[in-house]
Amino acid sequence: MTKQIVFTIVFLLTLGIFGYTASRIAAYFKLTKPFPVKDIPKRIGIMLKVAFGQTKIFRFPLVGFAHALVFWGFMIVAFGSLEMIVDGLFGTERAFKVLGGFYDFMMAIGDVFALLVLVAIIAFLIRRLVLHIKRFKGIEMKKISKIDANLALLAILYLMVSLLGMNIFYYFGHPDHYEGIFPVSKFLVEHVFPMQSVSENTAHFWYEFFWWSHIVVIFIFANALPYSKHFHVFMSIPNVFFSRLEPLGKLYNMESVTKEVKLMMDPDAAFSEPAAADEPVERFGVKDVEDITWKNYLDSLSCTECGRCTSVCPANITGKLLSPRKIMMDTRARMKEKGPHMVKEGKDYDDQKSLVRNYISEEELWACTTCNACAQECPININHPSLIVEMRRYLFMEESAAPGELNTMFANIENNGAPWQYPPEDRLKWAGEAGIKVPVMADLAGKGEKPEYLVWIGSAGAFDDRYKKVSREFVKILNHLKINYAVLGEEEIDTADSARRAGNEMLYQMQTLQIIEIFKSYDVKKIITCDPHDFNTFKNEYPDFGGNFEVMHHSQFLQKLIAEGKINISTDIFDGKRVVFHDPCYLGRANGEYEAPRDVLKAIPSVHVEMHRNRSFALCCGAGGGQMFKEAEKGEKEIFIERIEDAIEVEADIVATACPFCMVMMTDGIKYKNREDDMKNYDIAEMVSMALGL
Ligand code: SF4
Ligand code: SF4
Repeated sequence: MTKQIVFTIVFLLTLGIFGYTASRIAAYFKLTKPFPVKDIPKRIGIMLKVAFGQTKIFRFPLVGFAHALVFWGFMIVAFGSLEMIVDGLFGTERAFKVLGGFYDFMMAIGDVFALLVLVAIIAFLIRRLVLHIKRFKGIEMKKISKIDANLALLAILYLMVSLLGMNIFYYFGHPDHYEGIFPVSKFLVEHVFPMQSVSENTAHFWYEFFWWSHIVVIFIFANALPYSKHFHVFMSIPNVFFSRLEPLGKLYNMESVTKEVKLMMDPDAAFSEPAAADEPVERFGVKDVEDITWKNYLDSLSCTECGRCTSVCPANITGKLLSPRKIMMDTRARMKEKGPHMVKEGKDYDDQKSLVRNYISEEELWACTTCNACAQECPININHPSLIVEMRRYLFMEESAAPGELNTMFANIENNGAPWQYPPEDRLKWAGEAGIKVPVMADLAGKGEKPEYLVWIGSAGAFDDRYKKVSREFVKILNHLKINYAVLGEEEIDTADSARRAGNEMLYQMQTLQIIEIFKSYDVKKIITCDPHDFNTFKNEYPDFGGNFEVMHHSQFLQKLIAEGKINISTDIFDGKRVVFHDPCYLGRANGEYEAPRDVLKAIPSVHVEMHRNRSFALCCGAGGGQMFKEAEKGEKEIFIERIEDAIEVEADIVATACPFCMVMMTDGIKYKNREDDMKNYDIAEMVSMALGL
C-alpha cells in the first residue's frame, strides 16, 4: 500500500510538470502560422516507413542499424514501462500477464532488446567521447549540446541496465514461478552471475531498487526531454507524420503574391475582386519566429542534432558558414527566447532582435544552393531549404537585401526576359548561327499546325556559349528522328526559377503567369526541356498557377526513344572511355530521376563508373538556388572543385551531365584542375548525337 501511495504521488507530480511544460509549448505553437495537412492515408504510410521502419536511418547501414535498434528497443520496452505504471498505481504485480502468450513474447523481446540497446548505447558513447566524429562538431554544437547528448545516452544506458537488473532479480527471486520469458536475464543468472548465495530477501531488495530507479529515471527523463535535444523521442513520429508530401524541389506558393501579381497584370481585376485588393498584407517571408508555420516549429523541436544534414551540405563541406542543423537549432532557441514574452504580451512583442540576423546571418542564408541534400538525409523528414527560402523571401521582398549580383540577374529578367543582358531577338541565334532549322511555334500556328511537343530551350540553352551547343545537339537528334516539335523562339522568356529560389517571388510569379498564358495560347500539352530547374518548376510548381502540362526532362525523352528502339547506337567513339554521371540536384533529389540519364549512357558503348557520392547522395555542383549568378560565400573551397575531385577520384575521362548549370560548374572544375586535355564534360544529348554521328 505504501508503495502504491508513494508511486501515485510521484506519478502525479510527473504528469503535472509534464502537463505544465506541454501547455507552454502548445502556447508557442499558437503563435505560428498555419500549415495545411491533407492526405492522411499517405501520411500514415510515410510514418510507418520512415518513423517506424527507420528507412532513412538505414541509408548509412551500420550506424543506422544501431540507431534503429535503439528506436525499436524503446518501442518494445515501453510495453514493460506501461505495465510498471499500472502495477504502481493499482498495487498489482505484472498486471499484463493476463495477455498470456503475447505477454511472454513481449517480455522476451524486451529482455533481448535491453541487451542490444545497451550495447548500441555503449558504442554511441565511445563514438561521441573517443572517436570525435566530424558531424558532431560545428559552430552550433556548444558544450551544453554535447553534455545534453551524453547525459541522455547515460540515462538510456541506465534504463537498460536497470531493466536487465529488474529481470535478473525477478527471475532469481521467483526461480520456479515467474511470469514471462527472459532469455537474456536467465542466461546471465545461469551462466554469468551465478547467485546461489543471494537470499530471497536480497533479491527482492535489488528487484525493488531497480524497479524504482528505472521508473524514476523514466519520469525524470520524460520531464527533462522538452528542454533537451532528446525531445525528438516524443516529437519525431508526429514530425514524420506531418512531413511534406510534395517532391523536394517544389517550393510553396505565396498566395498573397499571386493576388498582387494578378492585379498588376490585370488592373481591371481590382474592380471584379475588390476584396483581394483590400486584404491586409502580411509580412513576406520569415523574419522571426512568429512568421514560421507550426510545422517549421515542430521541425525545430524534433531535430535530434544528429548533424546528418550538415554532413552532406555542400556549403558546409566546403567551409561556408551555413549549417542546416544550426537553422533548426536557432529556430528552436529563438522561440524559447521570444515565445514566453509573446505569450504574455502578445504577438507584437518586440525585443529588437529577430531570427534573421541575430541568430541566422545573411551570409548563411545566401550560401544555400537549395540542393536538398539536407532534407534528403534528415531521418525525420525535416525540410530546411523551404525555411531558408522563406528567410530569403523576407530579405529580398521586405528589405531589398539581396546580394548585388542577384539584383542584376533580377533586373535583367525583368527588362529583357533573360538573366543576362541578351535581347529577346537573340533567342534563336543558337540555332541560326549553326545553320540548324528549328520549327517555331508561332510559324506553325500561322499555318494552322500544332506540334506534339514544345521544346523549352531555357535561357542557358539560348545564351550560354557552352550550353548552346547542347541545344543544337538535342534538336539534331529530334530532327534526325523526325519528332514533331517546335520551340517558342523569341517568345520564350526566363522562368525566373533562380529568382524564386533567391527570394524574388514577385518576379517569378510574373514570369510564370506570362509563360502559362503563352503555353495556353498554343494549346501546349507536352513539354521537353534540357534544364532540370525549368523541368522542376513546370512539373511541380506550375500546377499551383493553373498550368498543368506533361513535362519531360530530355534524359527521360531520350530514355523513352531508346526503349522504343528509335535510337540505336553502334559506333564506338566512346569505347573504353570511363564515363561518370554527375546527378543534377533538380533532376535527382528534387524529382527522384536517377535512372533515365544512366539508361541513356548505358546505350552508348563505354565504361560506366560512379562517383562515391551518387544518385540521392550526389554532391551539388554549387550553382543552384541562385548561386549560378553570384560569387560563392567565403569558405575553404569552391563546391565545384569538391565535386570535380569526386570525378577525378574515379579516373573519369568524361563527366556526363544533364543540366546547364552543372555543365558550367563541371567545366570550371576541369579547368581549375588543369585537366582539359584528358577530361571532357558532355551533356548526355551531346554524347547521343556524337554517337549517332549527327
Ligand atoms: S539545401 Fe543544400 S546547400 Fe542548402 S542547406 Fe541544404 S544541403 Fe546545404
Ligand atoms: S535537421 Fe534532421 S538531419 Fe539535421 S541535425 Fe536535425 S534531425 Fe539531424
